[in-house]
Amino acid sequence: MKRYFLPLLLILSFQSHAQTTVLPEVPDSVRTVTMSRPVQKQWRGQYEFEKMGVTVSNDFPMGSLNGMFQENDSTLVALITAENTPINESPWYAFQIWGKEEKDIYVRLTYQAGSKHRYYPKISYDGNFWSPLDSANFLVPDSLKNFNFRNRPEAATLKLNVTKDTTWVAGQEIHDSKRVKAWADLISSKPFVQHEKIGESLEGREISALTIGKPQNDKLVMVIARQHPPEVTGQLAMQSFVETLTNDSELSERFRENFTILVVPMVNPDGVDNGHWRHNMHGVDLNRDWADFHQPETRAVKEFMHKKAEENDATFYFGIDFHSTWDDIYYTVGDDYQTGNIPGMVSEWLVNIQSAIPGYEPNISPNNKMEPTLVSRNYFYITFGAESLVYEIGDNTPRDFLEEKSRVAAEEMIKLLLDKVD
Ligand SMILES: [Zn+2]
Repeated sequence: MKRYFLPLLLILSFQSHAQTTVLPEVPDSVRTVTMSRPVQKQWRGQYEFEKMGVTVSNDFPMGSLNGMFQENDSTLVALITAENTPINESPWYAFQIWGKEEKDIYVRLTYQAGSKHRYYPKISYDGNFWSPLDSANFLVPDSLKNFNFRNRPEAATLKLNVTKDTTWVAGQEIHDSKRVKAWADLISSKPFVQHEKIGESLEGREISALTIGKPQNDKLVMVIARQHPPEVTGQLAMQSFVETLTNDSELSERFRENFTILVVPMVNPDGVDNGHWRHNMHGVDLNRDWADFHQPETRAVKEFMHKKAEENDATFYFGIDFHSTWDDIYYTVGDDYQTGNIPGMVSEWLVNIQSAIPGYEPNISPNNKMEPTLVSRNYFYITFGAESLVYEIGDNTPRDFLEEKSRVAAEEMIKLLLDKVD
């Protein structure tokens, strides 16, 4: 994402992140039912606006546009709806647009009742390189230009320069299952990495895992990402974390001699490719299914972990699940719990990350209710004693800082685990 330029508002949101309120991604007391429920599968195709000379398409993986109509000579209105409800508010949109001739038009993003705008628009001309929409073309009331969780526009109008060539417009970079598989294939070209299928999603997409390090190691680290489809920054953070663990440094090599890292890069490929806000094809939030395991995606990861633990009579020492939300937050296991395999390790790790990044103040939210397990972090901790956390990256965290933080996080994890585990 080298060509990723950040407008002022994104930089501001990064600088102010230390003071912002921690928003719980995980409501602990609510036992959500994870039995299968119907979802409304999105119609895919092209919306033609002949008089305007403009065509809009949602017909690509991660595409999300549930309806569109023309309001006047220069304005299209987009309807963005969720796969089912109730649902966490992550209104994901992604579409392509082109025209018979070059012209400026307006697209107003509107959301189903109860949802407001969340993702600042990104633009791409090839689906690979993305940059935020120029803030002059992001039309919302002035007081909402620098919107945040508590103060958001109901709708947002984007001024777009339409040409004969395709312009991509999306809430984040398009990071679909194919792209993540290509990344996993690249990582697994290294001699110490194995890549295997561990299960299938409801629509038959492969759920795969990387096994990194000497296969006979009896010390394990678990890494997962993308239970929630629009959480692209979590995916990018995970990739940078894993790239550090697989690099040629002396530190990483020594780590791989002693520890095996298991990585499931995308737990919810159906949700991702279908452009969902949050759920799988059974309308379920997978990160509430780690107690009941009603869904095949969570079951695949669980069975893989148990298989790996049994293979070498191995122990999980660390588990990390990558997500995205409004800010960078670490959701940790609270101090009430001292039954993990290295008590206090995550707290020490966060202190070390802070020391390694000048001026950085981690936003930490400990959690003191681990059962029922419901979410992956709790399952890793309660079942395996792995020191665990949810690693949340902000939607707007600058991508170069995101990479740096993940690299430092990986290095500091390596140092601590090598130090604390014989
Ligand atoms: Zn999430």
